[in-house]
Amino acid sequence: MTSAQPIVRVRELTKRYGDLTVLRGLDIDIQAGEKVAIIGPSGSGKSTLLRMLMTLEEPDGGEIWIDGTPMWSYEQNGARVAASETHLRQVREKLGMVFQHFNLFPHMTVQQNITLAPQLVRGENGGAATETAKRLLDMVGLADKANAYPAKLSGGQKQRVAIARAMAMSPQVMLFDEVTSALDPELVHEVLMVLRKLALETDMTMLLVTHEMAFAREIADRVLFFDQGRILESGSPDEIFTSPREARTQQFLHTVL
Ligand code: ADP
Ligand code: MG
Repeated sequence: MTSAQPIVRVRELTKRYGDLTVLRGLDIDIQAGEKVAIIGPSGSGKSTLLRMLMTLEEPDGGEIWIDGTPMWSYEQNGARVAASETHLRQVREKLGMVFQHFNLFPHMTVQQNITLAPQLVRGENGGAATETAKRLLDMVGLADKANAYPAKLSGGQKQRVAIARAMAMSPQVMLFDEVTSALDPELVHEVLMVLRKLALETDMTMLLVTHEMAFAREIADRVLFFDQGRILESGSPDEIFTSPREARTQQFLHTVL
């Protein structure tokens, strides 16, 4: 029996900043449609992994495949050849990322924020891009904000626009890096509602770095616990949250739960 090719495959991924080793040989397989939560202490390499998946950082070793395509290098006549900028851009198009800080374009309306990349990068016509934007704004509960400027929105609304904007490129994989961490507590809920909807009602592949443990437990198929640049432990939400094997995982959960 063969299992399906993972949509994300990571092998022996390493990353250093000077003397600091941030990722120490990560191996990860994520199947299409899987919802994976990444938890772990600050500085354990969670954002570095996501940034590397998004091609924003180059690894020092190892490789990433997205839907079977190697990201950083090819075998060509038996030699390793570095990926070109064109190749990286093509791989990057399969992924969408939402950050802790929303980074909306301030001089554009909500709708223009969402339609820009599909038109510029994918050559969609304005009509099609606008249709998509309307559908996505409806999904994130902001149909009435299409013509508003970001400055007029709350943090929670901005983050929901950022999610819609990433989704507008029809990525195969969505990466979320602590998207609720910068929000006022009363605004966290509305963003989690959108993520929950995506997780439960779509077959989008999702990788979420989060400190919202109850949320991770609710929506994740699998939880990865990061510690010092390694996946120290992985398992179902029940395994990780109810009966973690590792002392470090237990200790971490004690401090955040
Ligand atoms: P996490 O997201 O788990 O909190 P990060 O991946 O952001 O962790 O960072 C892991 C480690 O790498 C931290 O010690 C951080 O200070 C360091 N780091 C991240 N980015 C850089 C950078 N551009 N230059 C130097 N050190 C960095
Ligand atoms: Mg981080």
